[in-house]
Amino acid sequence: RKNQLSSFKNQTTTSSDGKHPILAANIGTPDDLTAAIENGAEGIGLFRTEFLYMDSDQLPTEDEQFSAYKDVLQKMKGKPVIMRTADIGGDKDLPYLDTPKEANPFLGYRAIRMSLDRTDIFKVQLRALLRASAFGDLSVMFPMITTINELKRAKNILEQQRQQLISADVAVGHIKIGIMVEVPAAAILADQFANEVDFMSIGTNDLIQYVMAADRGNKRVSYLYQPYNPAVLRLIKSIIDACHENGIPAYMCGEMAGDQTAIPILFGMGLNEFSMSATSILKSRALIKGLDSREMVTLANRTVSLASTSEQVVHYVHQALEAE
Ligand code: PEP
Ligand code: MG
Repeated sequence: RKNQLSSFKNQTTTSSDGKHPILAANIGTPDDLTAAIENGAEGIGLFRTEFLYMDSDQLPTEDEQFSAYKDVLQKMKGKPVIMRTADIGGDKDLPYLDTPKEANPFLGYRAIRMSLDRTDIFKVQLRALLRASAFGDLSVMFPMITTINELKRAKNILEQQRQQLISADVAVGHIKIGIMVEVPAAAILADQFANEVDFMSIGTNDLIQYVMAADRGNKRVSYLYQPYNPAVLRLIKSIIDACHENGIPAYMCGEMAGDQTAIPILFGMGLNEFSMSATSILKSRALIKGLDSREMVTLANRTVSLASTSEQVVHYVHQALEAE
């Protein structure tokens, strides 16, 4: 089966009726990048840059970050790469930042909230990203965006840094800008956010925990962590629709994007890019090769209009796949 799958490595992803969703990889470390390339990733849909901060006992310098980002872009040889600004906080604490303990870290000082507070740290990262953008196809996205004002502030700071580099005669490329949709408030206002960005990427790992009010790391409530819950699926569909109605593509970079039961539904919803761990890419490409997009549109519509439980959704998916 491994050998069979490896024949999919250098192919584009094509459904049985000729649609081409993009299969990209999530990466953190340089090792993940190797795996992404070996498994035929068509791009990087999520580079978790916080790994640079966590693997160190002090803040990484602008030059350290620049060379890490440039390296990823060069190794991807012009394929699209989405780098997420640091998602620190929540369950990812930096000992050297000495931030106070919080009662609800997942609802607290984390990701873009920290970046907009510690703009000194944020600016260093943005400058490194801007300098790296001259070496490949770079998109930057902001994690945990909740309000339009946060997004506007983040974009302004990025633009400010870009102007400063240009004035200093430093080469910068064109950067596409996106947000992660992982907070329900952003999901609900997706049509408004769509006017401010080039793309959105749905972060289901967090979005599910916030929609279901169930800590993603707490085993005692893990029964509520349901990717196929119709409430989650309806919200995801509304985000994808809002993107398309406003002329931008919809991506996903949570674990759900590589889930073999979820993929037929998400494909039917018209998701443009699935970003997953490298080891899921080839089997997902094989799965999509057997799917007809019109059948999957019907499946997606059935799940959001008829299902009231996760079990029903899984049942619909099995039925649809058997019919293929
Ligand atoms: C997510 O929340 O779905 C996501 C991709 O980000 P992380 O898992 O790093 O929080
Ligand atoms: Mg997240």
